[in-house]
Formats: sequence, structure tokens, C-alpha cells
Amino acid sequence: MIFNFKSRVALVTGASRGIGYEIARQFASYGCSLILNAKNAEALAKVAYSIEKEYGVGVLALAGDVSRGEDVKSIVAEGLGKFQKIDFLINNAGITRDTLLMRMKEEDWDKVIDVNLKSVFFMTKEVVRHMLKNGAGRIVNISSIIGQVGGAGQANYAASKAAVIAFTKSVAQEYSSKNVLVNAVCPGFIETDMTNVLSDERKALVLEHTPQKRMGQARDVAGAVLFLCSDLASYITGQSISVNGGLYMH
Ligand code: NAP
Repeated sequence: MIFNFKSRVALVTGASRGIGYEIARQFASYGCSLILNAKNAEALAKVAYSIEKEYGVGVLALAGDVSRGEDVKSIVAEGLGKFQKIDFLINNAGITRDTLLMRMKEEDWDKVIDVNLKSVFFMTKEVVRHMLKNGAGRIVNISSIIGQVGGAGQANYAASKAAVIAFTKSVAQEYSSKNVLVNAVCPGFIETDMTNVLSDERKALVLEHTPQKRMGQARDVAGAVLFLCSDLASYITGQSISVNGGLYMH
């Protein structure tokens, strides 16, 4: 066993599909109990049930919109009510509303910033308070390669994800001395519902520039997240780990 997360509790947002689901599944496979969130309650309940059944860990499904402060407060309170602690917070929920800047509506901007960035502020603030009391914690924020290099048609998304990196560094500076370590993971192009909508031309272009010559899988990202939550990563904080097949080297 690479990791041992028995007696640990992880809160994963956006866990009903894609990268968040795989992070949750992998945590469970190493014995970690889970507080799972997504907006769609029905899809989330199905996922929670199947993970609990397969791995025999405690799983609490809490549907809610993480861009809303009240939802975040109740998710954290209910999670703590059941498990009494949160060891790992994975801020993964995210959306795109891609369009060229000239066509981008204020609503497209606000929605993406609220779901991708404001949610990270709400969740982190709520959970850090508890981690400080507990004397330990790991937070992993899912940013994106687009937050590192930008993307045409993605000014809103790029701004939100770049801000997540800066937020990560700031919070790491505030709380690492208290044993709360905060890092970001920047995936490249990963096969999920989010990238299924890309045109074949766009995918071909991405692959052409990706040294590993394949799209990433959710498991590739989940591996980095679990590593950052493990004892192997006890001297890593404020960092952004790229998981992108070599697409961007900096
Ligand atoms: P996905 O397949 O579209 O899944 C998104 C997840 O987020 C779903 O579970 C969704 O649940 C949840 N979600 C969306 N809005 C929410 C909200 N307001 N409150 C709570 N949950 C919400 O996306 P993905 O590809 O797995 O992406 C996961 C993360 O990785 C995102 O932050 C994304 O920006 C980032 N990322 C992805 C890629 C990629 O290539 N796929 C690359 C770089 C970064 P509902 O269906 O219930 O809304």
C-alpha cells in the first residue's frame, strides 16, 4: 500500500464525476472516510453509495453550491458533525463558460469566478479554522494549466485559476507554521466531461504539443493530490504541481 489514510477524513468538492470522483475513489481505496459534495444531489448520492459499498469507508454526501457561503457553512458543519474532523480539503469543483472576451457577458465572468474562486475562499476559511484547532491539515486546490499560461476564449477561467494559485501561496504563508500545508495542482488536458466538449482540432493541437502524446486521465491528477496529502509530502507547501504530460514546463 502506497498510502495509509485509515482514520483520516477528506472533504472533496465536485466529487460526483471527473477528477473529483477519482480523487474520492482513490482516497477511499486507501481507507479514508469521505465528505463528498457536488450540486446535483442525485448523482452525488449514487457515487457516495457505490464508493461506500466498494471500499467500506464512511461516506457522507452533502449536495450544495460551493459558490454560496451558506451552503459551504452547512456542508462543513454537517461533515464535522458526522466525523468530528477534516484532515484533507480538496477544492476541486469547477466550471467553464468559454467564449471570446468580446462576447463574454458579465454573468459568464461572475459565474466562473464565483464557482472556481470564491468557493475556494469560502471553503478554505471555514475548514482552516477547524484544522488550526486540530493542529494539522492539508489543503489541495485544483487550479489548471490555463491559470499558468492563459487560454484564448478562457479569460474568465484563466483569471479564476491563476487567482487560485496566488490564493494558495498566500494561505500557505499564513498557516504552514501551524502544520496546515496548502498546495495547488495544475492539471493539463484531462479526459472528463469538461474537455469532452472540445473540438477534435483543439484536442489534436493539445496532443501535438504534449510531450507524453496522450490526454491525461483523472487518475493522473488524483495521484498527485493523494501524494500532497500523504506523509511523503510533509515539507511541501505553497507549491503548484503541474500534472500535464509535459505540456508546459516552467
Ligand atoms: P467535471 O467533470 O465537469 O466535474 C465538475 C464537478 O464539479 C462536478 O462534480 C460538478 O457537480 C461540480 N460542481 C460544479 N459546480 C459546482 C458548484 N457550484 N458547487 C458544487 N459542485 C460543483 O470537471 P473536471 O474536469 O473533473 O474538473 C474538476 C476540476 O479540475 C475543476 O476545478 C476544473 O477546472 C479542473 N481542471 C480540469 C481540467 C480538465 O482537463 N478536465 C484541466 C485543468 C483543471 P454537478 O454536476 O453537481 O454540478
